[in-house]
Amino acid sequence: MVAFLYNSILIILITNFIFERWLDYLNTKSWSAEIPPELVGIYNEEKYQESQEYQKATHRFTLVTESLGFIAILIIFASGGFGWLDGIIRLHFSNPIFVALIFFATLGILTEIVSLPFSLYDTFIIEAKFGFNKTTHRVFYLDRIKGLIISALIGGLILCLIVWIYLTAGNLFWVYSLLVIAVFSVFMAMFYSSIIVPLFNKQTPLADGTLKNAISTFSIKTGFILDNVFVIDGSKRSTKANAYFSGLGRKKRIVLYDTLISELETEEIVAVLAHEIGHYKKHHIYIGLFFSLISTAIMLYIFSLVSSHAAFAQVLGSNVPSFQLAIISFGILYSPLSMVIGVGMNYSSRTHEYQADRFAAENYRAEYLASALKKLSINNLNNLTPHPAYVFFHYSHPTLLQRLKILMRFNNQ
Ligand SMILES: [Zn+2]
Repeated sequence: MVAFLYNSILIILITNFIFERWLDYLNTKSWSAEIPPELVGIYNEEKYQESQEYQKATHRFTLVTESLGFIAILIIFASGGFGWLDGIIRLHFSNPIFVALIFFATLGILTEIVSLPFSLYDTFIIEAKFGFNKTTHRVFYLDRIKGLIISALIGGLILCLIVWIYLTAGNLFWVYSLLVIAVFSVFMAMFYSSIIVPLFNKQTPLADGTLKNAISTFSIKTGFILDNVFVIDGSKRSTKANAYFSGLGRKKRIVLYDTLISELETEEIVAVLAHEIGHYKKHHIYIGLFFSLISTAIMLYIFSLVSSHAAFAQVLGSNVPSFQLAIISFGILYSPLSMVIGVGMNYSSRTHEYQADRFAAENYRAEYLASALKKLSINNLNNLTPHPAYVFFHYSHPTLLQRLKILMRFNNQ
């Protein structure tokens, strides 16, 4: 059994790495030196070349970081590093919840230290080279410290609860832990914008003026309360622009980046807002939450069936079965299935984007959304010609060209 698990884990790790690099490679093959015909006249030659350079730079960076990460995991796995770490912690602590907490804290801190230089390079070399970066070193380090504290508090609390349930609930482990995760997910969906986001960014209600008037006319028409529209200081970190819808029930809000507001014309901003209201009207947050809980339920159920088997710890080099070792070996063994589920979730998310675009086109104007999407793609130097296989596996949004094609149909109405 142990040998079977060991070989399966090795095969999954290697296959997954090769598969991801192959998808990346396909993407590099579909870069075209020529501007796609639909975008001639929008993307100028110089900006287009810049976007190609940016794609190449991020591709090289991903190749290096993914390869190093892959080698590190292989070495740690094959040398029994996970079991060794678990054993060391057990020398000093006996409470299984403590052992699990310290185990994951150690892995988290190690990952943080190892990833730091790469993250610095990404932010201050690559992003800076293409004019995106606005992050100061102070903001950069504060972000990481805050991120660590938040994951220690929230992750630590959830982990304690789940391990405690694992140790005490027997067969019902998956039901109770699913409940914990469901309550936490709903709580986060509701309060993420009012508790977590303010730790990193300032959100201000829309200021009076032309934009507010334009938005107000539109939101009255669609029944979305204007008080729920906020502007966030995205320019604190990057010139990249964005907008999103978040929250449930009374806690719902649409957040527009200040960079988006300065990039786009009033009508284009209203069109983006109309798209976000589309997400709200079509209940996309609820649907996404529902599917993610279904996928968590499937995973927890299978985990609860197999995880008590000693082989899940032995394969990582330990003779003491534990939650933390089981979750690591199970996590790798489960990853092919989780990839399939991820593809389904991405597909559903892309469908939602089309629905929100459609809502904006029907209730506002398709041409304004089209020009907003073009400007955002250019501003963010997005890859305009990703390979269809890459899109199928990894894209949560349809490509710009796919969206423009649909929006064109509304143009002459
Ligand atoms: Zn959207």
